[in-house]
Amino acid sequence: MIDLVIVGGGPAGLAAAYSAWQHGLRDILILERDNELGGILNQCIHNGFGLHRFGEQLTGPEYAGRCIELLRSTGVRVELGTMVLDVTPDKKIHCVSREKGYQILEARSIILCMGCRERTRGAIGIPGSRPAGIYTAGAAQRYVNMEGYLVGKRVLILGSGDIGLIMARRMTLEGAKVLACVEVMPYSGGLTRNIVQCLQDFDIPLYLSHTIVDIQGKARVEKATVAKVDENRRPIPGTEMEFDVDTILLSVGLIPENELTRQAGIPMDPHTKGAVVYENMETGIPGVFACGNVVHVHDLVDFVSGESDLAGASAAAYVLKGEASDAAALDLIPGNGVGYTVPQRVRPADVDRSVNISFRVRQNYGPSQITVTCGGRQLARFKRQRMAPGEMEHIALPKVLLEKADGPLTVAVEEVIAE
Ligand SMILES: Cc1cc2nc3c(=O)[nH]c(=O)nc-3n(C[C@H](O)[C@H](O)[C@H](O)COP(=O)(O)OP(=O)(O)OC[C@H]3O[C@@H](n4cnc5c(N)ncnc54)[C@H](O)[C@@H]3O)c2cc1C
Repeated sequence: MIDLVIVGGGPAGLAAAYSAWQHGLRDILILERDNELGGILNQCIHNGFGLHRFGEQLTGPEYAGRCIELLRSTGVRVELGTMVLDVTPDKKIHCVSREKGYQILEARSIILCMGCRERTRGAIGIPGSRPAGIYTAGAAQRYVNMEGYLVGKRVLILGSGDIGLIMARRMTLEGAKVLACVEVMPYSGGLTRNIVQCLQDFDIPLYLSHTIVDIQGKARVEKATVAKVDENRRPIPGTEMEFDVDTILLSVGLIPENELTRQAGIPMDPHTKGAVVYENMETGIPGVFACGNVVHVHDLVDFVSGESDLAGASAAAYVLKGEASDAAALDLIPGNGVGYTVPQRVRPADVDRSVNISFRVRQNYGPSQITVTCGGRQLARFKRQRMAPGEMEHIALPKVLLEKADGPLTVAVEEVIAE
């Protein structure tokens, strides 16, 4: 029986393992399907990582390197090239590797850190023929940054999520011509800093409220037709523009990688597409925790690491205490303008001083207020100058306020109208 098994050796798994070690656990095993630790960071060779955690601008591999270095000072064990196939509610982990073959491991606690995957063309149903030259932005990033292949010369990017924006800059720096970035929503899904540094600095136009309505080409993409969309995201006839491109990169969203979570019978949140978690990142199965992109898609890895510190500390506390919490829980409900909250459940008696709540808004906001209410009673209010769906919001609710709640808590947003 292993004290703690961590599924996934990306930044979430690395931080969770280090934190569990710091909090007294000594029997910790990370299982990673890839041949190296670091997860998606290994292909993100641009900088912009680590400002919050390390107080400096690092590249993805540098950030991963720092986390791996910290782990070297511990006795945490790592099995690379090991694919986890199944996690059962009684904490058995079925995994397979070349070296050890098929194994069934038993654990006192588990932390799920499998990250997320990209939505593909099939998921969004773009019409047109199916030639070569259509990649997800993350796949193109891997080809360019890790395998050494430039995937195209004239590029159109669909979706303005951070990966698409970063690839617009990356392809330009590698000598390709990026003709435009096309976004169906009236606002970008990416961080403002990425719109400025990756599009505006390179004069790449961003067409908001536009989408691709046709892709032409036999063997390879030759043309893409883009049209403006109305408020119901339907293309407006007569607004079509043609782009002569050989490559289309899709940056149309990420989905938490949750097959294992679902198979284990862990309750899921339809808004995040990840597990429902408590204030300590514990899922609906006592002793099974989750953190990082597998819970909700993050824009900054620093916040992944912070959340994973908490998951690691919580798993250590669970194992060392040897019993599950029986404290009463309150639900957190996403109210007006709020897409989701993490955590979704909170046990006020188990909160130390305060609980951090992460959420995303559904649209752009100017000066606004975030309210936390219980049965119509306002418990807390936070002011913001601006909020955008591409940037995760965080609020901290003190324990004293949580103890005043006698039912579900609603987190909502409203714009403050200037008098
Ligand atoms: C293209 C891109 C650009 C980004 N740019 C920035 C940036 O500029 N600044 C910033 O701060 N953040 C950035 N991020 C965000 C940051 O990289 C992620 O938030 C972070 O990597 C998520 O960490 P994670 O450990 O949850 O997931 P991942 O890094 O995806 O790691 C998950 C790990 O789990 C493993 N795994 C999955 N399933 C299994 C299984 N069944 N068995 C065994 N192992 C498994 C995977 O192989 C992987 O190693 C970017 C992300 C992407 C995708």
